Amino acid sequence: MIVSIIKSCKICCLLLITVLTSFESIAEFSIRSQKIGGTNFLYLHDVANYFGLNIRGQKKNYSVYSDQHNIKITLGSRKFSINSIVAYFANAPRLSKNVLLISEPDMTLFIDPILRPNGLPQHSINRIVIDPGHGGKDKGAIGDRYLEKNINLSISKYLAAMLEKKGYNVLLTRHNDSYISLKRRGNITREFNGDLFISVHCNAVTRSNVSGVESYIVTPKGLRSTGKTRIQSKNVSGNRFDKLNARFAFELHKRILSVTNSIDRGIKYNRFQVLREASCPAILVETGFLSNPGEEKALANSSYQKKIAISLANGVIAFHNALNNN
Ligand SMILES: [Zn+2]
Repeated sequence: MIVSIIKSCKICCLLLITVLTSFESIAEFSIRSQKIGGTNFLYLHDVANYFGLNIRGQKKNYSVYSDQHNIKITLGSRKFSINSIVAYFANAPRLSKNVLLISEPDMTLFIDPILRPNGLPQHSINRIVIDPGHGGKDKGAIGDRYLEKNINLSISKYLAAMLEKKGYNVLLTRHNDSYISLKRRGNITREFNGDLFISVHCNAVTRSNVSGVESYIVTPKGLRSTGKTRIQSKNVSGNRFDKLNARFAFELHKRILSVTNSIDRGIKYNRFQVLREASCPAILVETGFLSNPGEEKALANSSYQKKIAISLANGVIAFHNALNNN
C-alpha cells in the first residue's frame, strides 16, 4: 500500500513538473494521487498545500481558499465555483477512504490557469476575430419580437469598435445579415491568423423563466462535455489552447456577469464546431435568453448591448494583461 502510494506520488510529481514548470520549489511538494476509473485524482489537501490554500467544510461542501482565491466544491457534483464564478468539472470531486480527491485534468487544465497566470503558455494577442453567431437564412434563436442573428451582429459590431480603439486588429466573420457556414468561420479565423476568437450568441429554451449567461470552451481530450457522460477521446484543433481557453473564458465570463447582473449559468465544456476547429484560444458566449421576456427586452436594447460589448472588451484586455505578466 505504501509502495503504491509512493509510486503514484512520483508519477504525479513528474506530471506536475511538466505542467507547472514555472513553480520553483516543486521538488518540495509531493502531491499524492490515485487512479479511479481511468482518471487520475489528486489528494485535495496536497493540492491545497501546493497552492498555499486552506480547506474548510464538512460532509459534502468544501471551500479551498486563501485571501485571493476561493474554490467551492460539492462532493459528487460537477458544478463548482472559482472566485465566485460558476464552472463545471469534467469529473466530480469525491471522497475515497476519507481522502478528498480532485481530478488531475480539471486541476491542471482549468483551475491552475486561473490560480496562476504564470502557469499560462506564451501567447501574443494582436488579431482578434469576432463571430456574430448565425445570419441570413440561419436566424438562430427566435424571441417574441427579436431574432438572435441581429442581436449577435449588433453586440459584435460594438465589441469590434471598442477593441479597434484599444489598438487591436479586429475582423468580423460577417458584417451584415449574411449566411456564413460554421466551417467558413473557422477558415476566416485561420486566414486572418487570429490570436483570439469570440463567438457571440443568445440562448433560447422552451421555458420562459430560464435566464442567465453561459460561456463555452472546447472540451479537452479525455474529458466530458458539461452535462454529458461520454468522454471525448480525440484531440481537436482547439485543444492546443485548453489552458488559455480556461483563463480567457474566466476573464470574459466574470465581466459580462458583473455588468449584466444576470444569473451565472457557468463556464461549460462543449465541442461546438467553431470551438473544435479553432486555430487560437476561443470562447462562445451565450449573452442571455431570448425566450425570457425580461432578457429579450434587455438584449434588444442598444445600451445593454454596449454594456455586454464593454465587458467582453475588458475581458480581452484582462486576459492580455495576464499573459503579459506571465
Ligand atoms: Zn446561437
